[in-house]
Amino acid sequence: MSTPAYRLPQERRIVTEFPGPRSAALAQRRKAVVGAGVASTLPLYVADADGGVIVDVDGNSLIDLGAGIAVTSVGASNPAVVAAVQDQVAHFTHTCFMIAPYEGYIEVAEKLAELTPGDHDKRSVLFNSGAEAVENAVKIARYATGRDAVIVFDHAYHGRTNLTMALTAKSMPYKSGFGPFAPEIYRAPMSYPFRDGLNADGSAVTGAQAAARAISVIEKQVGADNVAAILIEPVQGEGGFIVPAEGFLPAIDAWAKANGVVFIADEVQSGFARTGAWFASEHEGIVPDLVTMAKGIAGGMPLAAVTGRADLIDAVHPGGLGGTYGGNPVACAAAVAAIEQMTTLDLNGRARAIEATVVARLTALAKNVDIIGDVRGRGAMLAIELVLPGGREPNPDATKAIAAAALNAGVVILTCGTYGNVIRLLPPLVISDELLDEALTVLEDTIRTVAQEN
Ligand SMILES: *Cc1c(COP(=O)(O)O)cnc(C)c1O
Repeated sequence: MSTPAYRLPQERRIVTEFPGPRSAALAQRRKAVVGAGVASTLPLYVADADGGVIVDVDGNSLIDLGAGIAVTSVGASNPAVVAAVQDQVAHFTHTCFMIAPYEGYIEVAEKLAELTPGDHDKRSVLFNSGAEAVENAVKIARYATGRDAVIVFDHAYHGRTNLTMALTAKSMPYKSGFGPFAPEIYRAPMSYPFRDGLNADGSAVTGAQAAARAISVIEKQVGADNVAAILIEPVQGEGGFIVPAEGFLPAIDAWAKANGVVFIADEVQSGFARTGAWFASEHEGIVPDLVTMAKGIAGGMPLAAVTGRADLIDAVHPGGLGGTYGGNPVACAAAVAAIEQMTTLDLNGRARAIEATVVARLTALAKNVDIIGDVRGRGAMLAIELVLPGGREPNPDATKAIAAAALNAGVVILTCGTYGNVIRLLPPLVISDELLDEALTVLEDTIRTVAQEN
């Protein structure tokens, strides 16, 4: 791996109370004009970000273990992405691909055909957000199959638009009060090794067993002939960084293929080197019919995509898919540069190295801390599930306390999970070893302290 060049000092530096005076002033201005429904994790306002650090308007430099929710994998101001954006923006910012097309869109589609699983004939359509990609994958699957039903899973997160709220599992904060929701969405049980319990003989519930349970629900409650698509995150994101038991995804995928059901992998969070492979589907050899992508795709610029089987995507009549901004040329230029950086810097290898470091340290810590129930994840998409001492009861209070204490010590950590009891680590893949080590030391100290207090 060649090391990225950093523009900002890669250091944790706390120079004010949180929030500092400038952040506090911005919080005041915000309150008067920004809708209360948009909440922010940090009380700090950003002035700069690069590599593994976020610098606030008061000069505090925080270690970033969130990457803007798995977006800035190549860094928040990767020089190659910055140069590509600057060059494109100086020529044209927008023409609308549906009106006056351009090469960047095609270049991105070529890259996606090459990188997504499988060597079959593929097509891509570009959008602006993950939710929009998911909506369009469902549109394509319904159109191509002539069927209505869509199967989703417990703990799923697919977005905040009307259709994707219906697809998402968790009520608060995503759905509560925002109904009615779109029809013909059915929820099947997920494979969740930490919470699936044991078989009568004491053995762990296998992926094949969990798949059989889900398939039975689908067949009995919906009927295979009515199902247009099965939509699943190969590693669940907001729902708790749940990695299904081995064999679960292949069994669901095989059932879908045997029943003419479109298998859609929602790789919006898990895609683009995040899990140590280009796509998380690869860890179990899955070749999805359609893949949805966004977050890590374009170095922070808004871009999303649906890529998949040419026969499905090309079934849709011309004009049936699109959007004013979808595949914006500046975002496309950023994506081409970001993908090139992922290759040059071997960010798949880097994600695997991050996994090795983090998992070794956290599993060692878990031996001495009784509120750590589970350490899991793939690549640089890693999580700690917190429980009440000794058992499996979720511990959201400790989770909140750890995230808050880590932030006060200058480390940005995100939480997630249906039960609000999961700490998720999503560092930029270009974070230096030194900075990652320092952040983990802060996290370990924080967890030990909170464990003693709880
Ligand atoms: C974030 C996310 C989405 C929604 O993406 P937006 O860009 O926020 O609309 C969809 N699916 C998964 C798995 C996600 O993590």
